Amino acid sequence: MICLQPITKPSVLYLGPRKPLKKSLKTLTPIHSLLQYNRKPQLAGETPRVVVITSGKGGVGKTTTTANIGLSLARLGFSAVAIDADVGLRNLDLLLGLENRVNYTVVEVLNGDCRLDQALVRDKRWSNFELLCISKPRSKLPLGFGGKALTWLVEALKNREEGAPDFILIDCPAGIDAGFITAITPANEAVLVTTPDITSLRDADRVTGLLECDGIRDIKMIVNRVRTDMIKGEDMMSVLDVQEMLGLPLLGVIPEDSEVIRSTNRGYPLVLNKPPALAGLAFEQAAWRLVEQDSMKAVMVEEEPKKRGFFSFFGG
Ligand code: ADP
Ligand code: MG
Repeated sequence: MICLQPITKPSVLYLGPRKPLKKSLKTLTPIHSLLQYNRKPQLAGETPRVVVITSGKGGVGKTTTTANIGLSLARLGFSAVAIDADVGLRNLDLLLGLENRVNYTVVEVLNGDCRLDQALVRDKRWSNFELLCISKPRSKLPLGFGGKALTWLVEALKNREEGAPDFILIDCPAGIDAGFITAITPANEAVLVTTPDITSLRDADRVTGLLECDGIRDIKMIVNRVRTDMIKGEDMMSVLDVQEMLGLPLLGVIPEDSEVIRSTNRGYPLVLNKPPALAGLAFEQAAWRLVEQDSMKAVMVEEEPKKRGFFSFFGG
């Protein structure tokens, strides 16, 4: 039996004892239908919402989160611009399958070689989603490109003739040096992506402190690459452990899912898949909560076959 239960503490979706994820999807079919909403989420807060997606550690899923949340927002009917601020290792265009359409970047805009709207790459699938890259791969950034330039860019997006977008998402580079400082400067809120391992958590904790020092107090976290089989075997920290360590509101829990890697390689973000993969649904849920300025308040509870008592969840 599956039911929604209010939570005071987060937890993770029960997928059964050490089953490969794919097989477990079957068991989750009823959850899919429960997670469908039949209304448009209510946009909370002042627009445009300028959200930096950050982590400290590299490879934890910032770019994946930016691409999937960005396209989910577009699907939910909101306009979104994603800025790839990972200047040295730009790859958001690849994840979105837009790499062949990036003709101009912010560098050309700043040099006066093109207009801002020429550098914005409109997604063909969802025209209310646009991508903006800072520079071409391997090209050098102009000296002095930093927080001020990015803030100017965000202001220019706000003042576009066609109106400001609802969301500006900034895909932050790894680390806490100049690239990080630049990426967080124009943001009013942050999504901190972490995986349930100690190295990622230590970096996330450090980054939380730096964000707060910069005046960004609205920080929500996404716990990515969660493996319930490992949590059950006590080989991985639970989402509850992560939340206790970081003390941040939870925007989403994304399971480890080979579909994420497949979608990355195809340049087709997971949230566009039909039928949706489990991780895609989880990203969609996170986008929903982002819109409503909400955090996880309810979790899916699936009861284990009697005798063995109960346990767990995610979602809501
Ligand atoms: P970052 O931007 O933080 O460096 P990426 O978003 O580029 O991280 O992700 C790094 C790698 O991890 C990519 O190959 C991506 O496909 C993979 N990945 C991210 N999230 C998941 C997940 N939930 N399940 C499986 N693979 C994932
Ligand atoms: Mg990245």
